[in-house]
Amino acid sequence: MMDNSIQIPLDLPDVRILKVSKTKEGDWLIRVESTLKGTNCRKCGRKLTQFHGYDQAIRLRHLPIFEQPVFIELRPKRYKCPDCRG
Ligand SMILES: [Zn+2]
Repeated sequence: MMDNSIQIPLDLPDVRILKVSKTKEGDWLIRVESTLKGTNCRKCGRKLTQFHGYDQAIRLRHLPIFEQPVFIELRPKRYKCPDCRG
């Protein structure tokens, strides 16, 4: 049985897939988002809710699927830590 869905193993931690689309060049483009929402500071452990905007989208090349190039687009979220600037 063929499965219509494509499982893409992402070796990126803490992200979820927002959208999978094909570019007009025929490449796969996977938009992902960080799941670290209102997270704790990874340096000092303080709870961070001060959303500070998005970083510029990062486009990563992933392994090809069916010989088609695959790109992952990630917009990192930024939080301000008042304690350690983490
Ligand atoms: Zn901190």
